[in-house]
Amino acid sequence: MLQAIETIGKTFLNLLYPLRCASCGKDLEATDKLHVCGSCLNSIRPNPAPHCAICGRSLHNAKDICADCRKDRPCFERAYSACVYEGALKDMIHAFKFKRRIALSGTLSKIMVDFARDNYEVYEGIGAITFVPLHAGRLREREFNQSEALARGLGLAFGISCADVLSKARKTAPQNELSKDERALNLAGVFKVKDATAIIGKKVLLIDDVMTTGSTLNECAKALAGAGAKAVRCCTLARGT
Ligand SMILES: [Zn+2]
Ligand SMILES: [Zn+2]
Repeated sequence: MLQAIETIGKTFLNLLYPLRCASCGKDLEATDKLHVCGSCLNSIRPNPAPHCAICGRSLHNAKDICADCRKDRPCFERAYSACVYEGALKDMIHAFKFKRRIALSGTLSKIMVDFARDNYEVYEGIGAITFVPLHAGRLREREFNQSEALARGLGLAFGISCADVLSKARKTAPQNELSKDERALNLAGVFKVKDATAIIGKKVLLIDDVMTTGSTLNECAKALAGAGAKAVRCCTLARGT
């Protein structure tokens, strides 16, 4: 009897709120908290080893450090990325950021928390967590910062305080449309520390959703180190290729 009531309840919910997988669009149960189907979730690939010992880029051979980091050492001590930015994960991040499927926040946070749980060195010795900021205008449009949502999820899971430390002084052109020199110019001086209280003398874990060239994380890390952070480590949900 109870089961029958539950089934009727679920059917009714599905009629009221049809729920579809954020990647393939397959119908889901209205009570499915992940907002993505099992096969899309299983298709998400971890960032494949071996990795550059600084920026975390996947390398084709077992060299320690990639050519970019050798040439121009980043300001952060190490960056980690949980997964590859492609397929279902890319669709989920897009749906979360641009189609306001805010409920995906829990699923994406869980992927990041599970990655950190499996890689103790991501949060070992970390005294504060912070995140890459959006420009105030962009934050008003979007109403939330996807990187902050991920950072707060990690903070809660590991009992580390998450602080809103950085601000972005102006809107910038998308980094992936620019050459390497243009990228550096695009971001020069754009990130400022608005309140250093939470980070002074601490190892800081800086969170972003996607890392591509690492320029954004590097500029944020420079600002954090300049304001007194002892060291900056980075972690992103996904790594672009
Ligand atoms: Zn799916
Ligand atoms: Zn590297």
